[in-house]
Amino acid sequence: MFPDPDIQHLDDVSKHGGRVRSFRHERGHWASYVYAVFHPREEFREMLEELQSAARKHGVTLTKMEEFHISLSQTVILRHHWINPFVQSLKDRLCFVSRFLCVADRLKVYVNEEKTRTFLGMEVMTGHQQLLEVVSEVDKSLQEFNLETFYQNPSFHVSLAWCVGEVTEPLQGACLLELQKVVDEFEDSDVLTRFYADEIRCKCGNQVWSVPLR
Ligand code: AMP
Repeated sequence: MFPDPDIQHLDDVSKHGGRVRSFRHERGHWASYVYAVFHPREEFREMLEELQSAARKHGVTLTKMEEFHISLSQTVILRHHWINPFVQSLKDRLCFVSRFLCVADRLKVYVNEEKTRTFLGMEVMTGHQQLLEVVSEVDKSLQEFNLETFYQNPSFHVSLAWCVGEVTEPLQGACLLELQKVVDEFEDSDVLTRFYADEIRCKCGNQVWSVPLR
């Protein structure tokens, strides 16, 4: 039913936009995470290109994310035979949650725990409370499987682009203000940065499960 786990290359950053922590590869163990989907409009990608060129003027070369989402868990390792019960647990807990509006319009710089990657993200302000409620349900499923829960004080965001290393210094300050101006002044940016969270997904290796919200 599942592809050979040996074909997973967890430390190949080109395959996952730099987000997955490098785990020692073990057969039958799947790097997995839970997230809300963000489907951007075409113009969103144009705005992202403007952000990239503004960052380049400050000496920072950013690589665009291949897909956009709001993480609702850390990346954890699921054993092959845990996947179905874990997804079922998520479905059982999330089937009562209604879809909700998210607005992600404030740029913020994030660094992964290993400090090997820096991300330019858009923080979600409207929708934060509902995302906390979803995370509290996801955390319960993770705890059932003795897995690490999410941040105590999460900053929910959509990562837009990333670069290697800890590059907070050149991105913060004047650069970030300029990037924020690109967003604020982009035509219809208020439309581009709002979306409904209507589906939670769980990705295990290269398999994706969908949990629709009400
Ligand atoms: P993501 O695109 O969701 O994988 O997020 C990019 C990085 O932001 C991840 O490697 C997280 O570890 C990192 N991050 C740093 N601080 C936070 C925070 N307070 N809440 C959520 N993610 C964070």
